[in-house]
Amino acid sequence: SSQSALNFGAGPAKLPREVLVEVQGELLSYQNSGMSLIEMSHRSKEYGQINKSAQDLVRELLKVPDNYKILFIQGGGMGGFAAVAMNFLNRTGTADYAVTGTWSNKAAKEAEKYGTVNLVFPKADKPGSIPDQSTWNLNPNASYFYYCDNETVDGVEFPYIPETNGVPIVVDMSSNIMTRKVDVSKFGCIFGGAQKNIGPSGVVVVIVREDLLGNAMKICPSVFNFTQVHKENSVLNTPATFSVYVMEKVLQWIKKNGGVDNMEVQSSRKSGLLYEAMKASNNFYSSPIDKNCQSRINIPFRVGGPQGNEELEEKFLVEAEKRFMYQLKGHRSVGGIRASLYNAITYEDVALLVKFMKEFQAQNQ
Ligand code: PMP
Repeated sequence: SSQSALNFGAGPAKLPREVLVEVQGELLSYQNSGMSLIEMSHRSKEYGQINKSAQDLVRELLKVPDNYKILFIQGGGMGGFAAVAMNFLNRTGTADYAVTGTWSNKAAKEAEKYGTVNLVFPKADKPGSIPDQSTWNLNPNASYFYYCDNETVDGVEFPYIPETNGVPIVVDMSSNIMTRKVDVSKFGCIFGGAQKNIGPSGVVVVIVREDLLGNAMKICPSVFNFTQVHKENSVLNTPATFSVYVMEKVLQWIKKNGGVDNMEVQSSRKSGLLYEAMKASNNFYSSPIDKNCQSRINIPFRVGGPQGNEELEEKFLVEAEKRFMYQLKGHRSVGGIRASLYNAITYEDVALLVKFMKEFQAQNQ
């Protein structure tokens, strides 16, 4: 079908249609070269320009200060889990982790391979809240403090940047990077897989404060060594050139559409619309997440009551697909429904989802 699906998937996820059309138009001959960008050397002038432009755009869009380096690595978000540990854990041999859901939990497990991991609060059986900061057990000697800004599976998003009294903060922003303004100067390192808000899978954006470089463990693979990757300007080895190329176009699209400021406004409007609809549903649709940390980006909910009615949820997904609404199934570990509202999802897309939800409720309650 040539009709664009209403794609609420958690990632890889919807990208701006106009970016895909542009890629399509350039696919066979990039800038009249008679060949595709993905057939060109990563040392070519063309790729060099894309690599530079993508770095410049990350810097501009997130207002990254001069004393931070911007790198592109591979290995996905999970590669990032290992990379941050191998680059920073050596400083004192121990690191603090806040586990608020699936991905921070996996990151903590990965880091345990490389040093001592201290959980600053006990892991909850069911994610859905963030314990008050005054109760956290922070280690002043930690190499870094780690958290996941937005838990993609569970729908828990931090409403603030934690206070760590000088311990560098490392954050996974895979699922909410470029969806709200961020004071980069508060962080030691920000990383995120591109495949949700800013591009295809295959590239991870790393923003690292320069004074934290140079501490990698001896065993750290060169491709994960931030110092080495930085020295080689993110072409230490062959990068995922196609992913960086598409990402550069998505970043241009964000810039053209009002930058991160506007992405933040739109994100609040979109998620607000969905949460309002849930509130008005008398618990027919319900969020399992505490109000103060409900994600604007990944919104899990149950259908037919707070515990969820699996039969109704199955029916919900079938009916949704009849309206071209796809990838709404909740993560297998959580169940229920999950709507992911990344930057390329429009307010109108969410309005269509909400309209469907109201009709479905009227017919099935
Ligand atoms: N962190 C977060 C917040 C994620 O959402 C994901 C993937 N959904 C990952 C890490 C892991 O990313 P990858 O699959 O690229 O390794």
